Amino acid sequence: MAVGDCSRLVEKIVLRIRGWGARKLSYAGMLVLVQAVLSQLHSFWTRIFIIPATVMDRINHICRNYLWCGSDEFHKTPPVAWDRVCTAKKYGGLGIVNGKNWNMAMLGNWTWRKICQVKDILKPGYCQGKWSTNAGVYTVSVGLNLPKHSIIGWLAIQCRLLTKDRLLRFNIISDGYCDMCLDHLEDHNHLLYKCRFSACCWRLLADWLNITLPDTDILNWCIRWRCRSLMKKHIVISAIMAMVYQIWTARNICRVDNKMVHPKFAVNNAAAMVKSRGQAWKWTSKFQRLHWMPWM
Ligand SMILES: [Zn+2]
Repeated sequence: MAVGDCSRLVEKIVLRIRGWGARKLSYAGMLVLVQAVLSQLHSFWTRIFIIPATVMDRINHICRNYLWCGSDEFHKTPPVAWDRVCTAKKYGGLGIVNGKNWNMAMLGNWTWRKICQVKDILKPGYCQGKWSTNAGVYTVSVGLNLPKHSIIGWLAIQCRLLTKDRLLRFNIISDGYCDMCLDHLEDHNHLLYKCRFSACCWRLLADWLNITLPDTDILNWCIRWRCRSLMKKHIVISAIMAMVYQIWTARNICRVDNKMVHPKFAVNNAAAMVKSRGQAWKWTSKFQRLHWMPWM
């Protein structure tokens, strides 16, 4: 197919995105739409036609723009590189199918000669019938996590939340002080761990979980944390992801509405989420018998 022949495909994707754009979805909602509809749309075409690289690049750009701003037009630097977004969840990505790789896989099915040409490229990305890409370090794919917690946690792990230090670097704001304590530059380390608000939240959460948390970099700690009980590990990771989400939400409420959220309120919200998710999950009976976790 020539580039011009694919204009209908690109138009279709843009039209869909403009339809979704008006709905003002969260990151998690936009991610589900990108994964479910856009990926299937171009993977259907790529099963039948050889899509030119420039068209695949355009489709990737459209998906990326929609994911980060809810529209097909986005003129800022994306918070996370598209290659990272397309990495499998277990390696720290969001698991979106990369159109270029998918097209290559489809072509590979057509002829053995083509497979021979692309096998070295496909090898690291396709194993045991599942897609994966180059190894990363982080994962937020845990059964108890709400999608919105996973997305914010995933961005926080990579220091890609739009904290004030980043806004200052982009010349979007001129005052970089933390809105919650007003005495320190707001960067990821301060906002998530060192600020009086977040430090208090983590102390309360650690008491509730009955574990010892490190003073800083709790997100990376929890991903590497080893625990003999898989259920306990999932609960702790989910509680930490929920806490990061609550801290980010409290920060936004303080910044936009000029209102302080009480740490106990934020911890209660995180705990309530873990409780409701855990009780609905497959370990219900074991979960209810846990004695190490008194519910608030
Ligand atoms: Zn602060």
